[in-house]
Amino acid sequence: MARSPKTGHLIIGVLALQGAFREHATALEKCGAAARQVRRRRELAGLDALIIPGGESTTIGKLMVSYHMLDEIKSLGAAGLPMFGTCAGLVMLARQVADGDQPLLNLMDITVRRNAFGRQVKSFEAPLEIPALASMAAAGVNSGAAPFPAAAPFPGIFIRAPWIESAGPGVDILAELEGHAVAALQNNLLVTAFHPELTGDLRLHELFLRIAAG
Ligand code: GLN
Repeated sequence: MARSPKTGHLIIGVLALQGAFREHATALEKCGAAARQVRRRRELAGLDALIIPGGESTTIGKLMVSYHMLDEIKSLGAAGLPMFGTCAGLVMLARQVADGDQPLLNLMDITVRRNAFGRQVKSFEAPLEIPALASMAAAGVNSGAAPFPAAAPFPGIFIRAPWIESAGPGVDILAELEGHAVAALQNNLLVTAFHPELTGDLRLHELFLRIAAG
């Protein structure tokens, strides 16, 4: 796997077509990884992992198609490149959207419902229990960069968020809100319906970097 020659850090791509990509790049750098904003197909080469940010999934999907990146990202994900999709990024990684037809990467065995918590509820914050974070801390992975204790609930920021309506047997549900799955892991694919990059809490980025490090 590629490593930045100068730093030895993982090189994590952040898809920068639309949405909250800068905040992800900052979070990755705080965790000690090198972030590369990806706007062109050739910038996908040599990455250790890729983040697909929140924004508007219909727009991100259309831009992936017009920049000839959709098939390339899909084959990288299918070949095992670790990917982290947040909010619209979760929608992009799904096999299916419950209520519509739009370009998707079709990589993760989940069906999602967009704007599931109600369009009128534009944004809200809810504490989430994520047991996988406590296991990570117990394994000694916490870099110390995260200012929150491992056992604390994660501050979930939801902005016109989707939920995972159904998931195949290979998918681990990492967190639920009001009985709906809002974070999940399937092999190399991590998704959250909320926006960890908009909090100061780096634990989910650290979990992703652990996946990326193999
Ligand atoms: N509602 C948006 C969508 O479906 C996601 C919103 C977000 O990423 N904050 O694409």
